[in-house]
Amino acid sequence: MPGVSSLKQCLGCGDRREEIELVRVVNNRGEIKIDPGGRLSGRDVYLCPQVNCFQAARETSQLSSELHMKITDELFNQLLEEINHG
Ligand SMILES: [Zn+2]
Repeated sequence: MPGVSSLKQCLGCGDRREEIELVRVVNNRGEIKIDPGGRLSGRDVYLCPQVNCFQAARETSQLSSELHMKITDELFNQLLEEINHG
């Protein structure tokens, strides 16, 4: 197989995609951040850069349980802003 495949699973829809196609969200010492470069350490999840997947992961409480962080409306909206404009 050519290249190194790094498949990750989207927490929202469950699809497996290349890591670079997904958005990495990290709990970096108590702050939830989107980490496109994959440099921050901490508990992380991968999601498609789509509102639907973020909402699905939030509705099933998987986002907060995987990140060990309560996802408030404010925080969630910030994340959506970042994927829409970033
Ligand atoms: Zn997805």
